[in-house]
Amino acid sequence: MELVEKLAQERRARLAAERLLEQRSRELFAANEKLGLHARSLSDQIVQQRDIAQSAVSEAEHLKQQQSRYIQDLDRAHSHAVMAERRLWDSINTIQDGFAVYDSDLRLVAANGAALRPYDGLPVAPGITYGQQMRLLAEHGRIELAGRSVDDFTEAMMAALDSNPIEPVTLQFSNGTWFRFVNRRARDGDLVSLGINITEQMRIWAAIEAIPDGFVLFDREDRLLTCNQRFRDIFSLASPVIKPGVTFEEILQYGLSKGQFDVEEGREAEWLSERMAQHRAPDGPHEHRLGDGRWIRGQDHPTPDGGRVGLRMDITPQKEAEEALHAAREAAESANRAKSSFLANMSHEIRTPMNGVVGMAELLCDTTLNPEQRLFAETIRSSGEALLVIINDILDYSKIEAERLTLYPEPFDLERTIHEVAMLLQPKARAKGIDLMIDFDMFLPTRFIGDPGRLRQVLTNLVGNAVKFTEKGHVLIRVVGIESEPGRQQLHVTVEDTGIGIAPEHLDHIFGEFNQVESEANRKFEGTGLGLAITRRLIERMDGAVWVDSDPGKGSCFGFRVTLPMAEDAVIPHLPIALRRVLAVDDVFINRTIIERQLAPCGVQVSLCRSGADALDLLSRDSDFDAILTDHTMPEMDGLTLAARIRAMGLTMPIVLLSSNPTLARDGADTFAAILQKPILRSELYRQLQELGGVMPLRVPVAPPVVPSRSMRILTAEDNRTNQLVFQKMVKEVDIELVFANNGREAVELFQSFRPDLIFMDISMPEMDGRDAARAIRALEAGQSHLPIVALTAHAMDGDAEGILAAGIDRYMTKPLRRAAILGVMAEFCPPEARPFHLEEPEAMTGT
Ligand code: ADP
Repeated sequence: MELVEKLAQERRARLAAERLLEQRSRELFAANEKLGLHARSLSDQIVQQRDIAQSAVSEAEHLKQQQSRYIQDLDRAHSHAVMAERRLWDSINTIQDGFAVYDSDLRLVAANGAALRPYDGLPVAPGITYGQQMRLLAEHGRIELAGRSVDDFTEAMMAALDSNPIEPVTLQFSNGTWFRFVNRRARDGDLVSLGINITEQMRIWAAIEAIPDGFVLFDREDRLLTCNQRFRDIFSLASPVIKPGVTFEEILQYGLSKGQFDVEEGREAEWLSERMAQHRAPDGPHEHRLGDGRWIRGQDHPTPDGGRVGLRMDITPQKEAEEALHAAREAAESANRAKSSFLANMSHEIRTPMNGVVGMAELLCDTTLNPEQRLFAETIRSSGEALLVIINDILDYSKIEAERLTLYPEPFDLERTIHEVAMLLQPKARAKGIDLMIDFDMFLPTRFIGDPGRLRQVLTNLVGNAVKFTEKGHVLIRVVGIESEPGRQQLHVTVEDTGIGIAPEHLDHIFGEFNQVESEANRKFEGTGLGLAITRRLIERMDGAVWVDSDPGKGSCFGFRVTLPMAEDAVIPHLPIALRRVLAVDDVFINRTIIERQLAPCGVQVSLCRSGADALDLLSRDSDFDAILTDHTMPEMDGLTLAARIRAMGLTMPIVLLSSNPTLARDGADTFAAILQKPILRSELYRQLQELGGVMPLRVPVAPPVVPSRSMRILTAEDNRTNQLVFQKMVKEVDIELVFANNGREAVELFQSFRPDLIFMDISMPEMDGRDAARAIRALEAGQSHLPIVALTAHAMDGDAEGILAAGIDRYMTKPLRRAAILGVMAEFCPPEARPFHLEEPEAMTGT
């Protein structure tokens, strides 16, 4: 037992132990399993934690990198900011204008060099107040206080900061510079102060202020930008509105309402629009009158920016002077008119009795007189004529001066006009032994449109002077021309003499009025000193010019230039001259050349000899000439002797004598085919040579004309008995029937009853004057043949001529009457049914 028991026990014990073991194993397993789960969850947790830690680490890494970038950026930004600040201050320091910043307590924070310059040597540093700074400027005399105390100035400067916006302040520093202070509050209460250097502007402005005229500047909207004080003073009534920003129109409107401008009542709107138009489109200076009578001249100009700058000038003194001048001129002109009409009347009054004096003296000379009486009579005549020349000169001059001289252009022959002048002066030249020559350009037409009367006057003056101031040698009139434009010739006429000449210092002076050369050589000559003044004025009226060259002691050359249209009939047909060879003999070189130049273009071969001996010598060798032209007066052998010697050689060719005094050649006249008066008119020379050319016989016998049975009927209307007598005596030897009318009315009656061939009509007559009578006659003869009426007038003033010719008068002659002129007119108008009458050889003319 014991053993079984013991075995059973032991078995039971073993079973129990096994059960316990199994339980414990189970429990261990469960615990193990639990532990495994726990371990797994722990491991999961660890993995998770590790991931989190990992991402935290990389985030930290990233942040660290970012931070270091930020720090770098910050560093860079900082250094940029430092640099920028430095640059900013450097720049601010370089500018001329001052720049300063104050905090809200007006303590200086910073300032540039320019802002601190005025305080040089003064304790100014950041922290100082604006007020203290102003006081320092004032106390140390750095600023012009313009009479203000230091306190006043400082207070004013401080007070200025209180306004909003703060008004700019302009200060003048004692070193002469000007600054404008523009202060602005910043948002945080800081004060930014700019001091702009306006010294240059102030200089310009000071200059603008200093100009004596009003200056004004408007912008492109026509708003006032600025003006000077003078402008405000001129328009003082409008000055309350003259402020920057006001428009030009507003200034005018305000001015108008205050009576600033002299504008008729009711015309204000019109005036305003005119003035505005003028302002917008200025066309030169404008003048207007102010309400107080002052005159203002204004001128506006556009500025490059579209604005307008203007000047206003007070021209009242000039206007007053102008008005005074105008009044003086009116007075002078009326005095001048009075003078002119006085001269016209005086001329009439002087000429009427002079007609008697000169006319009667002329008639007296024709009677039988003893030598002493002849001398007296001729002296009366020549003195009377000289007096008339002076009166004419003075009258002409006053006419030109009164601008009453009118030119009467008409077709005329210039060469003939020159020739006539030369012929008129020929006797004087001949008496002094001077050669008077004309060299008219061969290729120049002779007919032009101009005032022949006035050109004749010019030529008479120049040639007359040349003859007057020349004792020996020659006077040469030379005419050349160029066609300046189609149909117009620019003519150069020169009058050259070999006389006393004019010293260079007198050359300008002689064209002045009443100017004569005062010298020993000149004193013996008469004259008014008006001739050249008139000549110059006449040529200037013809748009030409006069000049003179002279060599004292050797001679002078006066010239003038005029451009004249050619007359339609200007081109003269070239007349054929049938002569082949011509011998020309003249001792004067110029004469020989003129002849050669005139004949060569006609195909004539010209041989020239300077003396009779030369000519005879040539003829002895070669006598094959178709004609000989010889001068009359030559030293050693004259033309008459030469002709006789030629004939003695048995030569029969025609000889033409060129003489300045044909009457002296009467004795030998038979020897000559023709005697031509020097200077020779080209057409006359051609005509003669044509005749010699053999086309016509030398002297063509003309069938005796049928002599009409009645004489020419002449009616002379003249109220003055003396003049009737003079007229009657002048024509007493002529075969005419003469009837006088004592006034215009009688003239009209006699026109009907007497049926004259020609009427001489005085102009000033009682009852009916010559003009009215002429008009009445023209009315009566309407439709019938035209009766020539020639006015005889003592009126020498211009304007008369127009009135006279307008009355239907054909021509007019001024008194005193010249016998030759009267007879010339009568001969010209003698109708074929009346007996022609022969004029006597015109007597030698005396003096001009
Ligand atoms: P007048 O001949 O009546 O004195 P002019 O006006 O014609 O007046 O001339 C003015 C002056 O010019 C003359 O007095 C003379 O001194 C000078 N003069 C004019 N022409 C000539 C000339 N051809 N030669 C020299 N002097 C002359």
